[in-house]
Amino acid sequence: METRSAAQEGQSGTASSPAAASAPVAGAAHVGEADLARAVRMLQAGGVIGLPTETVYGLAANAADAGAVASIYRIKGRPADHPLIVHVASAEAAARWAVWSPQAQQLAGAFWPGPLTLVLPRRPEAPPFASAGQDTIALRVSSHPVFAQLMQALAPVGITGLAAPSANRFGRISPSRAAHVRSGLGEAVPLVLDGGPSAVGVESTIVDLSRGQPVLLRPGGISLQALSDCLGVPVRAADTQATAEADAPRVPGALPSHYAPSVPVRLLPASAVQALYREWAREADAQGVGAEEGSPGRSFWSEAGMQALAGEPAGFGTPPALPVSLQPGQPVALWTLQPPPERAGAFWRRQPADAATAARHLYDTLHQLDALGVQAILVEMPPDTPEWRAVRDRLTRAAA
Ligand code: AMP
Ligand code: MG
Repeated sequence: METRSAAQEGQSGTASSPAAASAPVAGAAHVGEADLARAVRMLQAGGVIGLPTETVYGLAANAADAGAVASIYRIKGRPADHPLIVHVASAEAAARWAVWSPQAQQLAGAFWPGPLTLVLPRRPEAPPFASAGQDTIALRVSSHPVFAQLMQALAPVGITGLAAPSANRFGRISPSRAAHVRSGLGEAVPLVLDGGPSAVGVESTIVDLSRGQPVLLRPGGISLQALSDCLGVPVRAADTQATAEADAPRVPGALPSHYAPSVPVRLLPASAVQALYREWAREADAQGVGAEEGSPGRSFWSEAGMQALAGEPAGFGTPPALPVSLQPGQPVALWTLQPPPERAGAFWRRQPADAATAARHLYDTLHQLDALGVQAILVEMPPDTPEWRAVRDRLTRAAA
């Protein structure tokens, strides 16, 4: 893995950050011919590969091959009743898998290729293996250049759809870099095409067009408003509106507990973060931590260098008023807007103030904080506004 990550890009607020070199650049990523040919051979033989998309990395297999699709479920440990999204090269290709409609055409015209998945009635002759028993099918055209490269190379061998859920074990943090796939799935996925860090960073927006009013099954990079504006009718959010039983989505966008690190994630409102910092500053003063000449201070992740400074891992307790209890003396990790007090003894990553940047950094940050051996990851909950919907959704599931 690179020593400097794109996750730092934009975090220090300095335009000259060396991390800018590894920032996702649309159109810049391509894989070599040898890797591409190997990917085609493996998919043709019913194998599974890791694949970059602009949302997250996918675990891809030929959607028309029952055995290959079964391998995805086995490798992920995904429940058999949880359907997979089929990735196709174009709207024309999608119309061969699903019963196409004017609404599908409107959304595809506006947002494909891009981070939008459409749920549509499946054509009776289309392979059913990704649908997990549903008579619907979820389709997307990714905008990642490596995806386009691969679909073009697959056309001559007759593969027109790739089932590709996120390339992580079921319920765990989604991968936004090739290295996350390798560390999460290892030998089970011998080929991971590396297309750089995912530019969007959270899973696609899913809209169900298979019955009546369009329903947002999963929030993502495309807002409810943008969808409604495009269609000229309101799109209903499955998670917030009271829906009649008959009308409720048949397949939820994601399960309540999902995207989770191995250590607990705790969400704190901004006011609670401030209260926690005040308490830590008070305790540090009371104990004189780091105040003595030459004292090593506490372990702390510097924003600039992402290096653990020398010192005892620490972590003070929590004020009783907070909705989280911490073991004193054991480190915690923080993803918050402001740094903790100097001597608090916590690992800290700055949470971007902008929702799109935060989405792009979300999973990489959770992967990094999860690897620190902390007792908990404390996350400042972003505001309840439309642009933060997808990040709040993923954080809520990571904390569930
Ligand atoms: P992912 O976990 O990114 O592969 O996305 C899976 C989600 O896509 C599911 O939880 C559903 O919300 C949606 N989905 C996939 N296939 C279907 C389908 N055939 N019918 C309805 N929803 C689907
Ligand atoms: Mg997933």
